[in-house]
Order: sequence, then C-alpha cells, then structure tokens
Amino acid sequence: MENYNRIYIDGRWQPAAGGELLEVINPATEACIARVPRGSAEDVDSAVRAARGAFDGWASTPGEERRALLLRIADGMEARKAELTAAISASMGCPEHIAEWLQVEGPIEAMRLFAEHTAITEEITEAGHSLVWREAVGVCAFINPWNYPLHQFVGKVGAALAAGCTMVAKPSEQTPLQDLLMAEIMHESGLPAGVFNLVPGRGAEVGRALCEHPLVDMVSFTGSTRAGVEIAKAAAPMVKRVTQELGGKSPFIITANADLAAAVRYGVDDVMINSGQTCTALTRMLVPAQQREEIEELILDRVAEITLGTDGGAFMGPMSSQGQWQQVQDYIRIGIEEGATLLCGGPGNPEGLSTGYFARPTVFTGVHNEMRIAREEIFGPVLCVIAYGDIDEAVAIANDSPYGLSSGVYAANEQDALAIARRIRAGLCFVNGGEFNYRAPFGGYKQSGNGREFSQQGVEEFTEIKSVQLAAPAQ
Ligand code: NAD
Repeated sequence: MENYNRIYIDGRWQPAAGGELLEVINPATEACIARVPRGSAEDVDSAVRAARGAFDGWASTPGEERRALLLRIADGMEARKAELTAAISASMGCPEHIAEWLQVEGPIEAMRLFAEHTAITEEITEAGHSLVWREAVGVCAFINPWNYPLHQFVGKVGAALAAGCTMVAKPSEQTPLQDLLMAEIMHESGLPAGVFNLVPGRGAEVGRALCEHPLVDMVSFTGSTRAGVEIAKAAAPMVKRVTQELGGKSPFIITANADLAAAVRYGVDDVMINSGQTCTALTRMLVPAQQREEIEELILDRVAEITLGTDGGAFMGPMSSQGQWQQVQDYIRIGIEEGATLLCGGPGNPEGLSTGYFARPTVFTGVHNEMRIAREEIFGPVLCVIAYGDIDEAVAIANDSPYGLSSGVYAANEQDALAIARRIRAGLCFVNGGEFNYRAPFGGYKQSGNGREFSQQGVEEFTEIKSVQLAAPAQ
C-alpha cells in the first residue's frame, strides 16, 4: 500500500489543506492499493495562484526552451514507463501488457510530438496591414476521467506547455497515481515552479472550485456529458474558455463486399479492449441485413477467443470500478427487456472470476437504433449489431445519435470507404482498420464535445489570437 500525503503546488510537495485521504481501489482484487490527499477549494486557490504567478515568465519563455523541456519530460516518462504502466493497470484494471502500449507508449509519443509545436507563439502571419500572432490563453484547469488517464493528461498538459500556459490538473478520484508520478517527472525535468500544479480530489469539490476560480482562464475537461454540462455552466459566468471531450456511441459500417472476417475482428476488438471503457469505441456495428447471420458467426468466433483476467496475456481486465460494473449489468438487463437478442455474454461475472469487477464480453443482435442500448453510452464490453438495407440507410442510422465522437467504415476498398466517411457526422473516422494517430486532431461533433486535442489544432486551443493593426505606410 502506498500512501501519498502531499500535493504538488508551486514546485513543492505540500500537505493538502484538509488532511483527508481518498482510497484507490484495484478493481481486479477489490483491495485498497493507495491513499492520496483529498484536495479542497483552499488547495485549488493556492494552486491557481501559483499558476498565475508563473504565467508571465512561462508564456514569454522562448519556444526552443519549451521544446527542450517537453522532450525532457517525454524522456522522463520513458525512463519510468514501467511505473506508469503499473500505476494505471492497478488502478483501472487494463492488463499490464496492453496498458503498456495502449495507455503509456502512445502518450509518451504524444508528449514528444507536442515539442514540434512550441513555435506557435512566435509565428507571425500578415493580413493586409495587420500582423496576427498567437499568445498563451493563460491559467488552465484540467479535469480528467479514469479510462485513459495518462492519454488525457498528456493531451491537455503537453499542449498547454507547448503554448506557454500554466496549469492545475485534477485527475479522476479513481486514478490519481499516474498524475502523481507525472508531477515527479515534470519536477525532475526542470519545469519552473508554478507552471504545473496537481490537486487530486473530488469533482464536486476540486473540480467545481477550479471551474469557478476567477483566476482560471480556461477549463479543459474529459468525461461524461453530464459533468461536461455542469462544468460549462460553472465556467460560464466568467466567460472562461471551455473545451470538452465527452461521450460517444460510435457507428461502424461494414459494407456487403468488405472482408467480413477482418472487419468483424477489428470491430469486436475495438469494443472489447480496455473492457469497453473507450470513448471512441465503435459500439454500434451496422451490418448488411443479408449478411447478418454470417457476421454473427464471425462475431461469436472472435468473442470466443477473448481471454479475461489480469495475468499474462489476458485481453480484457475488470471494469474500472464496482459502479462501472453495475452500470454494465443494468444496460445488459435493459437490452434484454427492450427485446434485443443476446448473441453472447450476458449478466453476471464470467466463470471463474468471482473476485474483481469482471464483466462478460456481450453482444446484442437484432438491435434497433431507437433502443436505449443503441442510444446511450454503456461504457463497457457491450456491442450492438444493427442491420441495414442499403448504404443510405446505414448512413442515416450512423448519424441518428446525440453523439458524434468517432465512427468507422470497412468497405471493399479505401475509395468506397472514404465516400461513406464523408457522410458521417463525427470527429473521427477509422477507415478499413485504420489506427489511432497522435498527429491528427481528436475530438467530437454534437454532444461529444467541442474543441480538439493533440496535433497543431490541439495546441491552438490553448492560444488567444491577437491582431496588431499597423499604421499604413507613408505615401
Ligand atoms: P465523470 O464525468 O463523472 O468524471 C470525469 C472527471 O470530472 C472526474 O475527474 C470527476 O471528478 C470530474 N467531475 C465530475 N463532476 C464534476 C463537476 N460537477 N465539476 C467538476 N468536475 C467534475 O466521468 P468518469 O466516470 O470519470 O468517466 C467516464 C465518462 O467519461 C464516460 O461517459 C466517457 O464516455 C467519458 N469519456 C470521454 C472521453 C472523450 O475523450 N470523449 C474520454 C474518456 C471518458
């Protein structure tokens, strides 16, 4: 058991004002593995003031220096990769061998890529008799969930550092450990005091205090649509900038002439990895009605290969918490009550896994897009198969969702797939098995949020634009 009794503010590890602790639970064993300080509004105030005090100096630091610092942080992450992986795996359940590449190596690469964008505040464009330049937006507050905690941390912190912002981060109460490690790594990299501050704690306390603090200029949030709306409201009276990465219910269109076996394997794995706790998961598989039975067979074959557990090569770990396990059970029951057909999986723990919050990989077929299991985010290993008649109908079903985060198309060739991708209202589209790319912007349409993370666009979110009108040259 690890006990942390300090939080990172103004370049120093300090006791939290309240002295209370939060427990971190390992969802595979149900045991408490660590205790961390439960921050308060008082801690938020100290952290925000430290960030405000560091702002002018950091924002005017040459891009080249910020670039070197980002690379040093990435090196520090690389050196402590095993610790980061173990912390994430133990607190949210993703098996270590998967967490290493899915949850840690990607974010290290992303941190390095942010180093390419530090010149953003030095670039000058001309527009007639004006100069246009970008400046750091100011003090930022970051509020993150537990499902990809390091990815979400880096998407905000890396971009904000590149743009010259200072910041206060609040991890999810379930997964604070990698953020505590990151504070150590950033401290050791030589980051000036006050640029990065960390206050773990509850959403209703620390999260809310960050959104309402008058010295915070921008709030960047990832999590549920429910919390995203509350955060936007809390930040509205002071007209803070708010970016949001929220939920999804993403469609995956498989065309009649696609390589069905490859498409099904891709689609099933995409939903089941990380125990279905992926905001971009392609949870609505849209299949040609005439090939539905063939596709169902292929799904059954692939699901049968999925291994559960925490040891060795298991593909799926437990749900991240008891609450998340219960949510999945509730939706499986709802699906059955709504009249969807259970193709595999179902309620309860998988055989032999009575300890830990393990859920069964579950597939519903005969799903209609009006059903709750097709409209609401389950955030678990539950796939819905929906049959369509022609491509126009498939696109209509794909777009009939309050969300628009991700999507996928598997067609006979890239050209056909791209033509369908054009018609889908979502911020991402994975074509014929495409992979996630940290060089490309990430974010959603509709109720999946606003703003983009990663890439040049992700850094631009952390800047203000200034137009400087020059006097007209003398005639
Ligand atoms: P959550 O929204 O309950 O919590 C996310 C974070 O917000 C936590 O740090 C929490 O403490 C904080 N928070 C909660 N209420 C708050 C409030 N009123 N004010 C300020 N802060 C508050 O979500 P969760 O349960 O941690 O994560 C699961 C949800 O997040 C899912 O719905 C999932 O789709 C979504 N998610 C989306 C993305 C994305 O990029 N779009 C990524 C991960 C998770």
